[in-house]
Amino acid sequence: MPELPEVEVVRRGLDTHVVGATFGAVEVLHPRAVRGNDVDLAEVLPGLTITGTDRRGKFLWLTLSDGAALLVHLRMSGQMLVGKPGLVDSPHLRIRAQLSSASGVQELAFVDQRTFGSWQYVPLTAPDPGAGRPVPATIPHIAPDPFEPDFDVVATARAMRKKNVAAKTLLLDQSVVSGIGSIYADEAMWAAGVKPTRKGRAMRQRDAVAVLEESRAVMARALEAGGTSFDSLYVNVNGASGYFSRSLNAYGQAGKSCVRCGTPIERTVVNGRSSYYCPVCQTR
Ligand SMILES: [Zn+2]
Repeated sequence: MPELPEVEVVRRGLDTHVVGATFGAVEVLHPRAVRGNDVDLAEVLPGLTITGTDRRGKFLWLTLSDGAALLVHLRMSGQMLVGKPGLVDSPHLRIRAQLSSASGVQELAFVDQRTFGSWQYVPLTAPDPGAGRPVPATIPHIAPDPFEPDFDVVATARAMRKKNVAAKTLLLDQSVVSGIGSIYADEAMWAAGVKPTRKGRAMRQRDAVAVLEESRAVMARALEAGGTSFDSLYVNVNGASGYFSRSLNAYGQAGKSCVRCGTPIERTVVNGRSSYYCPVCQTR
């Protein structure tokens, strides 16, 4: 499952390669790839120009010249590939779309081995003064992620501290803060010295702020480490960045010495999710 940094890599690649291009023929090769649509993508997309790319948490979308959005659910195995028409030859090709721009005709291909992913044509919410930019109308319940300009770390920390729920669970709750997966939550709590089972109500404001700021920092480092994994032919999300194997301090490290204090990292289960932490330096 791609995490926020991998989705951001895809967004950047698409931003470079498809913004300004106009949809031509769209061919849907598997019905699951377009489920949840009220319209036929092969009818509605042709003639629309891609005006931009955007992302909230793990949700990625293209903004379109009619004011709507094409929401791209990558899910487990979705890949967005851009190349010469006909270049993508995969049994897992689900949607192919022709794109025309000043530089010629390209193909945008959606390849998805496990077919959990989809493209969805959705309206954007009306711009709400003070509440940031419009987002796809199907995800209004998804809170801003820590990279967004309108992410309010102080208010989010306050919201966490009103809940009688474990810190780990709060970090994974997309209505509190979006885009933080289990790996990054464990790494952020290790960095901030916060125990994963600590209840929101029992947290100090500065510790809640620290864990949110560390979430952003650890994902920013992953983005730096894995942020160039596409070439001129393909915009591609393919597996995890090398960051995971090199730089983990807590996640998956049970029994290994904490690099800060030498104590063996422990594993516990919080709300059904494995959580890794240092029992000595994560006490806040
Ligand atoms: Zn430690």
